[in-house]
Amino acid sequence: RATAMIVIGMAGSGKTTFMQRVNSYLHSREQPAYVLNLDPAVIHLPFDANIDIRDTVDYAEVMKQYNLGPNGGIMTALNLFTTKFDQVLSHVENRANEVDYVLLDTPGQIEIFTWSASGSIITDALASALPTVVVYIIDTPRTTAPATFMSNMLYACSILYKTRLPFLLVFNKTDVQPHDFALDWMRDFEAFQEALLERRQTHGEEDGPAYMDSLMNSMSLVLDEFYKHLRAVGVSAMTGEGMEELFDAVQEAREEYEKDYKPELEKII
Ligand code: GDP
Ligand code: MG
Repeated sequence: RATAMIVIGMAGSGKTTFMQRVNSYLHSREQPAYVLNLDPAVIHLPFDANIDIRDTVDYAEVMKQYNLGPNGGIMTALNLFTTKFDQVLSHVENRANEVDYVLLDTPGQIEIFTWSASGSIITDALASALPTVVVYIIDTPRTTAPATFMSNMLYACSILYKTRLPFLLVFNKTDVQPHDFALDWMRDFEAFQEALLERRQTHGEEDGPAYMDSLMNSMSLVLDEFYKHLRAVGVSAMTGEGMEELFDAVQEAREEYEKDYKPELEKII
C-alpha cells in the first residue's frame, strides 16, 4: 500500500521543484507515483498531476467573484476543492495498491494549508486512509542565520504537534548551501548557542535587540527535545542529490506511522 507524502514549506523553499524531482526519480526507478497538486495559484506545473486543483476551481475567477485578494482567493479555492475531497480520496484509494507513493504539493504560502480548516480536513482524511508522512521543506541557504533557523524550527514544531504525523525535515538547495551546519545545531544546542554569540559579535544590533539572544538560548534547550524525534535529510531538488537518503527516511517515517499513529487512529474510529 502506498505511502502519502504531504509536501509543506515556506513560499520559495522549493516544494514544487522537489515534487518534480521526486516524481522523476520515482519514474526512473519504474515506481511512478500518484500526484496531486493543491496549489490553485501555480502558473506552470513542472510535473504531470493526476489530480490538479486547477481543473476544479479557477482561482482568478474565485478572486473576482468573491472580491478577494490573492491569499483569500487561494484559501477559498482550497475550501471549494475540499468540499469534494471525499471524491478525490476515493480516486487516491483506488490507486493506492498500484503505486508506492502518493505525492501532494501544497499552496506556496504555508499557512494557507497548515492553519486552515481545509488543510486539516485534507491531512486527516488522507492520514486515516493511507500511511502519511509530512515532508517539511526548508530553504537551506536562507536559514543560515541562527534566528531564522530557530523560527523555521519553531514553525516545524508547531506543525508536528498540530498534525501528530510522522515528520521529516528536508533541507533543500544543498547545491547552494550544504546542510551540515543545521545538523550540528540540531545535534548540539551548545553549537547553536556559539553560532548565536558569533553572529551577535559580527552583526551587533542589526539582527534585533540583544535580549532576543537569551530567549533563543532558552528556546534551543526546548527544541532539543523536539529534534530528538525528528528525521532530517539534505537534498537538492535541482540536482537530485540526496534522493536515496530521502527515501530511506520516508520508509522510517512510514514505520513510525504504523507503530504510533495508526494504533491511535484505530482507537478513534
Ligand atoms: P515553492 O514555492 O516552495 O513551490 O518553490 P519552487 O519549487 O517554486 O522554488 C522556488 C525557487 O527555488 C525556484 O526559483 C527554484 O528554481 C529554486 N529551487 C528549488 N529547489 C532548488 C534547489 O535544490 N537548488 C537551487 N539552487 N534552487 C532551487
Ligand atoms: Mg509551489
